[in-house]
Amino acid sequence: MTKHVSFEFFPAKTDQGKANILSASEALATLKPEFFSVTFGAGGSDQQTTFDTVLGVQQASGIPTASHLTCVGSSRERIGTILDNYKANNITRLVALRGDLPMGMEDPGEFHYANELVEFIREHSGDYFHIEVAAYPEKHPQSIDHKQDLDNFVKKVKAGADSAITQYFYNPDGYSYFVDECAKAGVDIPIIPGIMPIGNFESLSRFSDACGAEIPRWLRIRLETYENDPESLRAFADDYITQMCMTLMERGAPGLHFYSMNKVEPNMQICKAVMGSFPQDFT
Ligand code: FAD
Repeated sequence: MTKHVSFEFFPAKTDQGKANILSASEALATLKPEFFSVTFGAGGSDQQTTFDTVLGVQQASGIPTASHLTCVGSSRERIGTILDNYKANNITRLVALRGDLPMGMEDPGEFHYANELVEFIREHSGDYFHIEVAAYPEKHPQSIDHKQDLDNFVKKVKAGADSAITQYFYNPDGYSYFVDECAKAGVDIPIIPGIMPIGNFESLSRFSDACGAEIPRWLRIRLETYENDPESLRAFADDYITQMCMTLMERGAPGLHFYSMNKVEPNMQICKAVMGSFPQDFT
């Protein structure tokens, strides 16, 4: 089976930021990704910016571009309108998520979990959209235990997801075990590892604590060593991420999804190294 890469962007508010995304997408399009995706603020805060960015990236790059869509705090009517707008604008892919309620907002609205959103999309739009869902090899931070989390992941797949993208991780063993467990639970959709290149250790550390992604102790110690030497940190981190991607490919991962942070590098460099090492897989 041919493997694919894909890249995620977050919507920018400034003109400079918007121009950066378009030029990054044009550069990364040379790698022939299967798709780009654009994140979406929970509670609908970024709905218009996401919509504009999705359309802009798809038009500039010629690569199918997915919109992330969070449902918490929203209504069926509102989500239905968003789906109709995407369909009318030739957007065929979605990353369907529950999202997190913004601080101070308590009413989840008509959707409580992502499986309900997937069900609604299928009910509303049939098979028009290719639907990705989120997967958590190291467990979603709100889940009581891994078994419960896995069962909930299976619900999203059964509701009609076509493929899944994982939360980022730095330990490929957790991903491999997760994929094996999913197969035993009857999941047969591709589970694409989410790859987060490392740029700034401090912000990565903060973000990882919040989303429940582990930075292994040995890796944290190495990265801390380069606290005042960003060049060495990047060289080390890029090498580690490249090696981890190679390991994932050797173990049969169906592709790689890069949390690009709206940057060309190091995503381009890492991808080229991996694709060059597995030319038969990326045709
Ligand atoms: P769910 O799958 O609904 O799971 C949330 C929690 O509820 C889990 O603990 C799960 O075990 C539990 N659960 C699920 N279903 C049930 C059920 N039926 N009954 C009981 N419990 C259940 N956030 C954004 O705001 N915007 C984005 O664009 C965005 N993109 C993302 C992309 C990826 C690839 C990933 C991995 C995450 C992304 N997130 C994004 C973060 C995501 O919104 C949060 O992790 C959020 O807390 C959970 O969303 P989910 O779709 O995984 O939720």
